[in-house]
Amino acid sequence: MVVLQLQQHSLISNGVSRYPFATPPFQRPRNLSFQAQAIPSRTQRIMESLSVNGEVGGAGGAYSYSALKRLDQLWASICSAHTVVQEPQQVVSSVPGLFCHSDLADKEVESFDVLVCGGTLGIFIATALCSKGLRVGIVERNVLKGREQEWNISRKELLELVEVGILAEDEIERATAASFNPNRCGFEGKGEIWVDDILNLGVSPVKLIEIVKTRFNSLGGIIFEGCSMSSICIYGDAAVLKLADGKILSSHLVIDAMGNFSPVVKQIRGGRKPDGVCLVVGSCCRGFMDNSSSDVIFSSSSVKMVGGSKVQYFWEAFPAGSGHKDRTTYMFTYVDPQPGCPRLEELLEDYWDLMPTYQGVSLDELEILRVIFGIFPTYCDSPLPASFNRVLQFGDASGIQSPVSFGGFGSLTRHLGRLTTGMPLPNIPVA
Ligand SMILES: Cc1cc2nc3c(=O)[nH]c(=O)nc-3n(C[C@H](O)[C@H](O)[C@H](O)COP(=O)(O)OP(=O)(O)OC[C@H]3O[C@@H](n4cnc5c(N)ncnc54)[C@H](O)[C@@H]3O)c2cc1C
Repeated sequence: MVVLQLQQHSLISNGVSRYPFATPPFQRPRNLSFQAQAIPSRTQRIMESLSVNGEVGGAGGAYSYSALKRLDQLWASICSAHTVVQEPQQVVSSVPGLFCHSDLADKEVESFDVLVCGGTLGIFIATALCSKGLRVGIVERNVLKGREQEWNISRKELLELVEVGILAEDEIERATAASFNPNRCGFEGKGEIWVDDILNLGVSPVKLIEIVKTRFNSLGGIIFEGCSMSSICIYGDAAVLKLADGKILSSHLVIDAMGNFSPVVKQIRGGRKPDGVCLVVGSCCRGFMDNSSSDVIFSSSSVKMVGGSKVQYFWEAFPAGSGHKDRTTYMFTYVDPQPGCPRLEELLEDYWDLMPTYQGVSLDELEILRVIFGIFPTYCDSPLPASFNRVLQFGDASGIQSPVSFGGFGSLTRHLGRLTTGMPLPNIPVA
C-alpha cells in the first residue's frame, strides 16, 4: 500500500532505541517531511531506529532491517512450491590427472596441508589442526570476526576447547560474558522442570574468536580475509581452490565451514528444499529487573495460524553480558517449508505483541539493543556424508548441529576432539 506519510525522526541515543511504540504513526511529529512510501511495519520502524554496527558474516551476525529483508527473500524462495529451490552452481569438480602436471600449477600462490573455507567456526578446527603442526589457511569472505550476540552454552561443552588444546581455561573465562542459574524447561499448564548448569553461560563470539584468531596466527596459520571461495577442483594429488579475485591456492584437504548456505552443500544436496526449518526471531533488550535465571525452552501457547501455516511458538531467554538488566529473548518455531509459511518479519510483528506478556515487562520500559533473526534448514539425511575426495564439511555445513536447539557452536565443541583426530590427512607428516 502506498500512502502519503509524515515521517518522524527516530529517537536514538548511544546506538540503542527508545522507540515510541505507543505512538501511532500518524501522530503530529516535530520534524516533518512529506514523502510517498509504503507504511513501514512496526518491525521496520524499530529496526531502522537502531544504529547497526559490527555486522559479521556468520549466522545471526546481521541485525539490520535490510539484512532481515534479504533473509526473508531467501526464505520465500525456499518456501516456493518447487522441490528444487535453485539449480545449484557446480562449485566442486573432479579433474583427471595430477595438479603438479597441470597448467594451473604455475599460477598457484601458496600451498597448504589444509584449507578451511569460512572462518566463524572454521577458525576452531583450523587452530586445532595448526597446533598439530599442519600448515593451515583460512579463506573468509568477510572480516574474520565473531558476532556481538552471545552464544549460549554449558560449561562442560566449553571446556572441550581446553581439552582439545586450542584454549587455556583463563581464556575461556575471558570470553564468558554471563553466567546464570537456574534454568527452566516448561510448557504452560503442563509443569516446569528447573535445572542448574544447562546452557547457563553466555559466551561472547567476538571475544572468543579474537582470542582463537591470535592463537591461530601465532601458530603460523594464514588468513585470507575478504576473500571468497569461488570453485574447488579435485585432482589426484591436491584440491585446488580458486578465489573470487583469481588467486589459486592448493591443499591436501579442504574443510567446508561455510555454514547452512554453503555453495558446496547446495551442490551436494542438489539445491533440494530442506525437510524442515526452524525459524527464530528475537531481541536483546535493556530494562529487565528480574534477570538472574534463564529459560532453555518454554512454551505458553498452543498451535495457531500465522500467514498460511500452523505454528507453535517456543521461547528461550537468558541474561546478556552487556549489563545486569540486559536480556536476550528468542521466539522460535518449526515449519515444513511450503507456500504460505510465515515470514520472519511476520513473526517479529507477533514477537513485539507476545514477548512483553511472556517476560512480564512493558515494551515501553525496554531499550532495544539489537534485533536478531535466523533460519535453520534441516534435512533428514544428516549429518551430511562426504561427497567428494578431499572435501569435508564442518560446523553448520555438516548438518551435525541440533535443529531443535539451534546450538551450532555447542555442537562444534562436542565434536571437535573426534574430528581433529579423525581427519583423514593423506600424505601429511603429522608432527
Ligand atoms: C539467532 C541465532 C542464535 C543462535 N544462538 C546460538 C547459541 O546460543 N548457541 C550456539 O551454540 N549456537 C547458536 N547459534 C548457532 C551458531 O551461530 C551457528 O551454529 C554458527 O554460527 C555456525 O557457524 P559456521 O561457521 O558453521 O557457519 P556460519 O556462522 O554460517 O559461518 C559461515 C562462514 O563462512 C563464510 N563464507 C560463506 N561463504 C563463503 C565463501 N564463498 N568463501 C569464504 N567464506 C565464506 C561466512 O562469511 C561465515 O563467516 C545461533 C544462530 C542464530 C542464527
